[in-house]
Amino acid sequence: MKTVDLNKLVRNTILKMKPYTSARDEFNGADKGMIFLDANESPFENGWNRYPDSKQLTVKKKIGIIKDISENRITLGNGSDEILDLIFRVFCEPGKDNIISLPPTYGMYSVLADLNGIENREVLLTTDFQPDITPILEQVDKRTKLLFLCSPNNPTGNLLSEESIRTLLDRFNGIVVLDEAYVDFTTQESWIRKGIAFDNLIVIQTLSKAYGMAGIRLGMAFASPEITALLHKIKPPYNIGTLQQEKVTLINNIEKEIALIQKEKKVLVKVLLQVNFITKIYPSDANFLLIRVDNADKRYRQLLENGIVVRNRNNYPLCDNCLRITIGTPDENRILTQVILKIQETAL
Ligand SMILES: *Cc1c(COP(=O)(O)O)cnc(C)c1O
Repeated sequence: MKTVDLNKLVRNTILKMKPYTSARDEFNGADKGMIFLDANESPFENGWNRYPDSKQLTVKKKIGIIKDISENRITLGNGSDEILDLIFRVFCEPGKDNIISLPPTYGMYSVLADLNGIENREVLLTTDFQPDITPILEQVDKRTKLLFLCSPNNPTGNLLSEESIRTLLDRFNGIVVLDEAYVDFTTQESWIRKGIAFDNLIVIQTLSKAYGMAGIRLGMAFASPEITALLHKIKPPYNIGTLQQEKVTLINNIEKEIALIQKEKKVLVKVLLQVNFITKIYPSDANFLLIRVDNADKRYRQLLENGIVVRNRNNYPLCDNCLRITIGTPDENRILTQVILKIQETAL
């Protein structure tokens, strides 16, 4: 069990501010038979002339069942990127507070730190891409509000060890933001449920990856009811549109797709192991592979010339000459394989 004093971590302005109360907070569409003349909407029904449910109750009910968690622990955002931004604005005082992130990792943490005027103290992952506990804790001071962990990590693809996450949750007295965008691809249990014991944990997930819904923009945060209430206090009231909310109810069982991605990943690894310009394939718990090649810029360009777009991570720390390749459909992976073998032949 870990408790934190939120009053010390949350920005004063946020503690004090009165949230905006929208017309639909007072009366929502569920009050059937009422005539709504309170929100200056168009009265002509077309399916989306009314403002959406600002509390997103139907969507939360659905997600609560899928993730086995109560609705007062769920915050929804216009992608996880919006949620990450809300977290910065609840906890971090511009120009004063700092956060810790662990490169190489997801680029949005440092972008949002810059955007919000927050110092980002970067502590490199170890060479096997695990959190380096002692240097991380050495960077912590009274103004360190957030620690960002990404597991499985992007772009390295590996899970962070359970032990290191637990140690950091125990020893860091700020908020740990654990980004589980790729957790659906692993057999590892998510931290959503076991995280209930830690009041300083916010778990982030998304419908953008395994669920195949990157286009609708829906991110999720799972945290204590107190943190959840703070995120709701500052979120734009209508951040999830009616059309988005409707599409979420179409969430499908994704076991088949995940199994296929895993199978394809194995096939691809087998082929790539035999390619002479690929010097390393990192173990992956996600739906992508990080590979090291002889010359990332050159191989990136050659793939592009053959109609294949991958991510060049050459400039990332610990990722010299690395490319990140998403696992595609069997057909796409077959073409990728052919192109890579063709590039190998012409290089000989
Ligand atoms: C793709 C990704 C996300 C998803 O962001 P959305 O805004 O929900 O699409 C979040 N975190 C990481 C690490 C990612 O790779």
